[in-house]
Amino acid sequence: SERTFIMIKPDGVQRGVVGDIIRRFEQRGYKLVALKMLQAPKTLLESHYEEHKGKKFYEPLLEYIGSGPVVATVWEGTNVITVGRKMLGATDPAKSEPGTIRGDFGIVTGRNIVHGSDSESAAKREIGLWFRPEEVS
Ligand code: ATP
Repeated sequence: SERTFIMIKPDGVQRGVVGDIIRRFEQRGYKLVALKMLQAPKTLLESHYEEHKGKKFYEPLLEYIGSGPVVATVWEGTNVITVGRKMLGATDPAKSEPGTIRGDFGIVTGRNIVHGSDSESAAKREIGLWFRPEEVS
């Protein structure tokens, strides 16, 4: 069993699809380990997206994710990292299959509704950034 970090981005919150996204993971059979809504401080977003620093979309990305509250969640279960990414759909919603979260709710990459960790090391790192140890124990 493993854990992943899934974040509902500000557009997902504004669009009112928080409940639907959580329901999809629950119905799939994954266990909700932690959940919180917060306005992410810029320093946290800089850490979270440090691999993208210097790219053209980096500053707009920080502005987008900092534009309103996000819902940060941790999910646990067999293959939850890989299956979770499949449930989100492709980064570009135009390439996401219907039935995926982005394929059902998104239109453009710059407003793609959700984030999900893409590896075990990323999941560990991101859970550690967004949650205190006692919140995920
Ligand atoms: P996430 O990390 O949010 O799950 P991802 O791993 O599918 O997304 P990355 O390539 O890591 O995609 O990019 C991180 C995020 O940066 C994307 O989800 C998207 O919000 C934004 N992004 C990536 N590429 C672009 C782009 N070309 N234009 C605008 N925004 C982009």
